[in-house]
Amino acid sequence: MLKFECECGNSTRFFATGDYLDYQTEFLDLEDDDCISYELNESRLLIQCKFCKHRYVLPKFEAINES
Ligand SMILES: [Zn+2]
Repeated sequence: MLKFECECGNSTRFFATGDYLDYQTEFLDLEDDDCISYELNESRLLIQCKFCKHRYVLPKFEAINES
């Protein structure tokens, strides 16, 4: 459902678990945690490829609108 693909070709995806935080917010889980690791860091989502160690950061959405 939410696919991640590193430039090195490593890819995995997040899938919807069927568990809900509220009536329209569903939890995601990582298909293969040997492929990537991720963490929330100061309102940014940081994803690291476990194959080549390249890191990607997704900034807080509101920050995009400010620029
Ligand atoms: Zn990679």
